[in-house]
Amino acid sequence: MNRAYIALGANIEPRARHLQKALDMLRRHPHITMKKQSSIYETAPVGYTEQADFLNMAAEIDTSLSASELLDVCQQIEQELGRKRSIRYGPRTIDLDILLYNQENKKMDRLTIPHPSMHERAFVLIPLGDIAPEVLVPGWNKRVRDFIDELPKTETKDVSKWTESGSAEG
Ligand code: ADP
Ligand code: MG
Repeated sequence: MNRAYIALGANIEPRARHLQKALDMLRRHPHITMKKQSSIYETAPVGYTEQADFLNMAAEIDTSLSASELLDVCQQIEQELGRKRSIRYGPRTIDLDILLYNQENKKMDRLTIPHPSMHERAFVLIPLGDIAPEVLVPGWNKRVRDFIDELPKTETKDVSKWTESGSAEG
């Protein structure tokens, strides 16, 4: 069995519904067992900033799928939820990225593990910290918690816990 962490993000309404549907699809997959889910966070867009705020979260799964089979499943879910690949880093109904897969550290054609920018993205690290603070990030010899501690305030200020009722907290 393999342990993997997936980041989910959505910034087209209904954002929470898109996250929920993607989680359901992962959960229902015969070769995936959902182990842990983070809280949902609302985050300001990074990079291409002329777009709506995201909801982000992270999930821990066990799977008998290989890393590239898991990427296929993630991309099928993106397709099914109607993601249009127009602007890179642009608006999306749902984005599923593989953050970690066991303790693998490798670069393949369509897949780099650990996800190449996870260690510097507050909107990835903070949700991941809910469920995997002590997990080591291969190639860095640092835990998720260590990267979170190093995030500048300018990054963390744009990530806040989100609740269905609409009230955000820090
Ligand atoms: P973004 O960088 O905003 O997530 P996309 O979701 O469109 O952009 O991903 C672009 C490409 O990144 C995908 O086609 C996929 O092959 C590649 N990729 C490389 N490493 C990973 C990873 N760890 N998880 C998901 N996609 C990855
Ligand atoms: Mg992606």
